[in-house]
Amino acid sequence: MSQEHTAGVYHLILRLPEARALRIGRLGRFTFPAGCYVYTGSAMNGLERRLHRHRRHCKRLWWHIDHLLRAAELEGTVVIPTRRKIECGCNRQVLALPGAEVIAPGFGSSDCRCRTHLVYFAQRPESLGARMALPLLTARRCPQA
Ligand SMILES: [Zn+2]
Repeated sequence: MSQEHTAGVYHLILRLPEARALRIGRLGRFTFPAGCYVYTGSAMNGLERRLHRHRRHCKRLWWHIDHLLRAAELEGTVVIPTRRKIECGCNRQVLALPGAEVIAPGFGSSDCRCRTHLVYFAQRPESLGARMALPLLTARRCPQA
């Protein structure tokens, strides 16, 4: 197996075709409305491996996002290559977009002070624009928070 040591922050753009009630591990059970979800995560070692794992369907459910990925379609990934710890800053930018809603408080944010790392949009936000429509591994700059 090849060793990869790339680091970065990523946004997963998910589409949930219909409303689903899902149990998210120990966080509890939530009803997720149909629409667009943007999840922000980071991997400081092995970013490609992590993104590959998110795309696989057969796996042990480990992270909160694993539970949602069983029901939702992964539409795209936005990657910000960095070694700086800007994950929460990038997440706050998503939370600040018009139409952003919190469905599951604490989702992906057990280790930080963010309200959630999963942001819901009834409509995919315009301001994310074409970049978010690209299928995979599209780099963009994330201003420092
Ligand atoms: Zn955070």
